[in-house]
Amino acid sequence: MTATTPGVKGHCAHCDITFVLKPWQLNAIAISEPFDCPYCHKVLLLNCPRQLRQLRSLDNLALLRPSMLVLTCVALLVALVVEWVGLISKVGQLNVSLVAILIHFLTLRHARHRHRMTLTLQAVNPVIERPVEHFAGVAGTRFGQR
Ligand SMILES: [Zn+2]
Repeated sequence: MTATTPGVKGHCAHCDITFVLKPWQLNAIAISEPFDCPYCHKVLLLNCPRQLRQLRSLDNLALLRPSMLVLTCVALLVALVVEWVGLISKVGQLNVSLVAILIHFLTLRHARHRHRMTLTLQAVNPVIERPVEHFAGVAGTRFGQR
């Protein structure tokens, strides 16, 4: 699925740098897990629900490529058989095949276009994001071990 992920970019609202998101960063965003900006090392989080929905819909698009390939192959085979049986002429078969291939490429082009998006990532304060009690608890157990 790596062939479908390039193109999704992240824009760090803190240092104003746009960078290509790596698959693990995309996974982190998809499950609303904060991660560090590779440039300013601020903790980033996607706060926009619309962009989050858009990102999650990419999983469905990843299935589009193989299913479109099968669909186009079936269309070409049907055109071949129909011409062979004698229902349409050779020119008709050629036209049907060309239309099928055209639809195939247009659909994939549209899918690729949708993949090219930039997510606006807001820098969040990790102290507010994670409860203080968590740190207090960790410190407590460390003191307890000593
Ligand atoms: Zn940054």
